[in-house]
Amino acid sequence: MTVKLKKKICSKCEVVKAASKFYKTWRIRSGLSSACKECQNAQKKKWRAANWDKEYEAHKRYRKKHPEQRLAESKRYREKYREIINEKARLKARVKVRAKRAEAKKSRATNK
Ligand SMILES: [Zn+2]
Repeated sequence: MTVKLKKKICSKCEVVKAASKFYKTWRIRSGLSSACKECQNAQKKKWRAANWDKEYEAHKRYRKKHPEQRLAESKRYREKYREIINEKARLKARVKVRAKRAEAKKSRATNK
């Protein structure tokens, strides 16, 4: 028989809250996590913010350490992009030529 807790004290904010205010977890025998949803969410948010910072800093440091790689990367990116732009321009030009041809054909037909 499992004992269902109706109320529980949060290990973080130390407020007694209803069981529904805690996330269910299979890791703990009571089936409820030790910290309430609010505290867990806040903690998750904080953790993510902290990690994002770390990640961002690492990225910045990396870029500072390897400026040549960054240059090469942006060059590669530009080249790739240029290809796409050129391809788009080519397509556009082709469409324009086709439209012009169609227009000429039409005007020729109406002139007759
Ligand atoms: Zn709490």
